[in-house]
Amino acid sequence: MSQVTSLEAEKIWRTIPKATQDSILKSVWCSHCRTSTTMIDYSMEMIKSSLILTGKCQSCDQVVRRVID
Ligand SMILES: [Zn+2]
Repeated sequence: MSQVTSLEAEKIWRTIPKATQDSILKSVWCSHCRTSTTMIDYSMEMIKSSLILTGKCQSCDQVVRRVID
């Protein structure tokens, strides 16, 4: 992780099992590639009660987001 991450978001992320984290990061929709991709260089933040992961598509470097309720 190379970006700023909020502590609250990180705390919630840590409660998610590693295998689930991996499957979340590997099934991110990229609107540029029009397929699911792997998110890299991600950061996380809380918006309302949702954990938001923001990172880059491994294939095309475009910004991708994933919301976890
Ligand atoms: Zn992409």
